[in-house]
Amino acid sequence: MTAPSAHDVCVIGGGVTGAGIARDLALRGLSVLLLEKGDWGAGTSGASSWMIHGGPRYLEFDWDTTRRSCEDAGHIVTIARHMVYRAVFLIPVLPHDRNNIERMETAMEVYDRFQPLKKAHPHRRLTAAEALQVEPGLTPDLIGAVTMEEWGVDPHRLVYANVEDAVAHGARALNHTRVTDLIRDGGKVIGVRYRGADGATAEARARVVVNATGPWSPEIGAMAGAAVQLRPAKGIHIVYPHRISNFAISSESIDGRDLLMVSHAGFTLLGTTDDDFYGDLDSVDVLADEVDYLLQGFERVFPAIRSYRPVRTTAGVRPTLFKWRRYEDELSRRYEVVDHEAEGVDGFVTIAGGKLSMYRLMAEETSDAVCRKLGHQALCTTATKPLPGSESEMEPAAELARRCGIPALAAIKLQSRHGSRTQRVFDGTATRRVLCRCEPITEAELVYATRHEQVRGLTDAFRRVGVAAGPCVGASCVMRASEVIGRELGWSAAQRFDAAREFMHDSWLGRAPVLGHAGWAQEELAQGALRGLAY
Ligand SMILES: Cc1cc2nc3c(=O)[nH]c(=O)nc-3n(C[C@H](O)[C@H](O)[C@H](O)COP(=O)(O)OP(=O)(O)OC[C@H]3O[C@@H](n4cnc5c(N)ncnc54)[C@H](O)[C@@H]3O)c2cc1C
Repeated sequence: MTAPSAHDVCVIGGGVTGAGIARDLALRGLSVLLLEKGDWGAGTSGASSWMIHGGPRYLEFDWDTTRRSCEDAGHIVTIARHMVYRAVFLIPVLPHDRNNIERMETAMEVYDRFQPLKKAHPHRRLTAAEALQVEPGLTPDLIGAVTMEEWGVDPHRLVYANVEDAVAHGARALNHTRVTDLIRDGGKVIGVRYRGADGATAEARARVVVNATGPWSPEIGAMAGAAVQLRPAKGIHIVYPHRISNFAISSESIDGRDLLMVSHAGFTLLGTTDDDFYGDLDSVDVLADEVDYLLQGFERVFPAIRSYRPVRTTAGVRPTLFKWRRYEDELSRRYEVVDHEAEGVDGFVTIAGGKLSMYRLMAEETSDAVCRKLGHQALCTTATKPLPGSESEMEPAAELARRCGIPALAAIKLQSRHGSRTQRVFDGTATRRVLCRCEPITEAELVYATRHEQVRGLTDAFRRVGVAAGPCVGASCVMRASEVIGRELGWSAAQRFDAAREFMHDSWLGRAPVLGHAGWAQEELAQGALRGLAY
């Protein structure tokens, strides 16, 4: 074991909360170590609905969360402007819905008061004919609709941008590095033991250790002898590899919960469930029943939904605060910052609960608590300081495409990930080749991500740049991507084949619950082609 490193703060958990805290503290001048056992954003953050929203639903029982969420969303869309895009919802109202059109419009009038906080526009009410004109896939049974504006974001890039900026301000950030234990001196937590990507174990000393592990926070709390109680709730999505609708659409499920279907950068998420979760957090499966529940709820408003071909599912577990005698859906999305000193565990702070949409505020309050413990005076700057890529204007995508000789769509996607820093992707490599025709990722970007963005394998590349995220689901690009990453990381030919095969097998597990007859046939072909290549 190497000698322990020493830091002011060690943050455990590289989801949006931990990455936000690491950035905040690094910007305040503290030395920070950030550890993530998987890849950046691979926990709940990456399995979210990709929405930066206020949550009009919470207005019924938790105004304060809606207000805070809208306020922080306003900051996030400003500091991450190259990554965010408007998502305009149509909320169709059908006969026998829980809310008639008048009630729905009243709710939207209330929500409109919060919309300026997040730089969004007020609602519009549409007649049935107007709604059908702009969204022909809706059921003709509808009575009318209201609109609502929210924001979308790629959570993987949002998390990574926070990690990147933390590192630019002196933090050390290690993915594929699991904290296996906490080092304690009596009741005080003084550091962490961890196992790195290479399997080697190491220790790090820290004056404060922050537990930002989302649904895993009770597990890390137990290592410190501190009680952290959550009521974790599982949510799944069905993923389609293209747009299905012009607008994001909301629908009611059989039990009256709100479902949503949102197009993000060319693919569509349909979700989500919300069920108490008692299983293994490291193995969250999607059940056929959950898929049926979503499709049943959605075909009421969008009858053709079952004729579209889903390509995968996502599953995550919400780190909801503990509350007895409530349905999952009614649980508050509040968060809590706990300094465990009061329970006799010093040097240890937990942040639990909350939402992606207010991650920055959660990070600010956690960092304030850490600074109080350290007697450190620096103030938070993350509400106004742009994330990397949002500092200045971007060149028009068409110009970038022409200048670099890449397709316009590839240029748009590149800019959504790198913003005004896009040129850095092409510095140091001459190749402009596009890896996959259906998800236009340039080889240059994959090389950049492997060299500079801690991509260690194909699943990291899926998150960082969208390898295999398109309709081919990897069949036509995963081998090429493995070649590029393998070249950078010094993999042998056998390792490149193995990585591609393993990726296809693992991603199959997420696809199986939504494969119809044609899907299974296509799957057999893709797996067979890879087996043919590998043997
Ligand atoms: C289905 C679903 C949809 C959602 N949609 C939205 C939405 O659209 N908008 C919104 O605002 N919110 C949404 N949420 C909520 C939001 O996703 C979460 O509140 C948020 O992402 C939690 O982030 P986090 O960083 O706290 O946790 P996580 O993202 O889970 O991060 C915790 C990290 O800790 C790591 N970790 C755990 N143990 C260890 C260890 N021993 N060593 C090192 N690392 C460790 C994990 O690997 C993980 O990456 C949704 C949640 C779900 C489940």
